[in-house]
Amino acid sequence: MRFTTVCHVTKLILESTCIDMRFYQEDRYAFLTEWYDPTAALLRRYQLFYYPKDGSVEMFDVKNQRIFLRRTKYDEIHQEDLFVGNRVNVFSRQLNLIDYGDQYTANKLGSKKERTLALIKPDVVTKIGDVLELIYSSNLIVTKAKMTKLTWSQAADFYVEHQSKPFFSNLVQFVSSGPVVAMELMGDEAMSIWRRLLGPADSAVARREAPQSVRAQFGTDGIKNVGHGSDSLAAAARELEFFFPSTIGHGPSNTAIYTDCTCCIIKPHAISEGLTGKILNSISAAGFEISALQMFNVDRANAEEFYEVYKGVVTEYPSMVTELCSGPCMVLEIHGTDSPQTFREFCGPADPEIARHLRPTTLRALYGKDKVKNAVHCTDLPEDGVLEVQYFFKILDG
Ligand code: ADP
Ligand code: MG
Repeated sequence: MRFTTVCHVTKLILESTCIDMRFYQEDRYAFLTEWYDPTAALLRRYQLFYYPKDGSVEMFDVKNQRIFLRRTKYDEIHQEDLFVGNRVNVFSRQLNLIDYGDQYTANKLGSKKERTLALIKPDVVTKIGDVLELIYSSNLIVTKAKMTKLTWSQAADFYVEHQSKPFFSNLVQFVSSGPVVAMELMGDEAMSIWRRLLGPADSAVARREAPQSVRAQFGTDGIKNVGHGSDSLAAAARELEFFFPSTIGHGPSNTAIYTDCTCCIIKPHAISEGLTGKILNSISAAGFEISALQMFNVDRANAEEFYEVYKGVVTEYPSMVTELCSGPCMVLEIHGTDSPQTFREFCGPADPEIARHLRPTTLRALYGKDKVKNAVHCTDLPEDGVLEVQYFFKILDG
């Protein structure tokens, strides 16, 4: 009797300690990551720990079983960046987050995260900035994007589930009539959020029943209705694979034309600050034609190569490289006679501080932070316009 009581008391104490510990224990998220070590030409694996309380990180070398980076405060990582499939930059190392490191992290950060396909149809490709603004304000992020033009048979493949419907041929004809922008959206319940944002398929019905929706605001009728959104997780997987296949070079091609053009890169910091929609809107409002658009994850070797001409010339070269590979960027081909000169003027002086004084309506004045995080890169010399566009849309899009 006495023994059971003692046991009971011990159990109570243990339980209460456990509860206390659970209550007081600091949150820690764990990820399995991979880093490509260019010197050794090896993929190295690390466990990355993130402590949200003080925004510190810690790294553990999996192969050698030892601490690689002692817990250190690091302001460049945010909880929103932590999901499997993303790439984060930790002290100039780009780490690919390949898996959750423990069940706690998977439950806490991964449970409701979904990926879905959003397709912007030909009727509103010029209003892509407005649509992106709505997407970002719904707490979704864009992880992939590509402007493409589907052939009739690609569009018919994409809409195969509707092939027996009376509107099938009109739908396929419309979707293949001009450029579209395919995007992978990610976030908690991304699929239903994007469909709710789109509203009812018929734009007239959308105006009556969901006046705030994208189709109500920008749609014309049942066919010209702004966009498409996957309607199940299985459909999302199939549709994402259609536009962004795991085998390189097998998806629908980009729309770059490589003549009378210049290259604009919306830099990673601007993407992660959610400025993409605003920047695209400013570019369109200024009358520039965006003839190709794609998001890229540039690795360090490619960033170095792309910026080669600035090496030893501009003191910011190393930081420019680090910025360009710190996360996804969005590359645009801007088309038009004299576009290298006119677009450059529109971007403004490289230093946003100077831009704000001298040219307050330029892109860098409006969206730049400093000389490196200056919102956009634009081609310097007119003769490099085509080359820079080719670097991304021919070489990196392979
Ligand atoms: P949603 O795009 O909302 O998923 P559906 O899957 O039902 O809608 O239809 C796919 C697309 O086919 C719609 O986005 C629309 O462009 C077109 N569509 C659907 N119903 C009609 C219709 N009754 N008349 C004309 N086009 C239609
Ligand atoms: Mg559908």
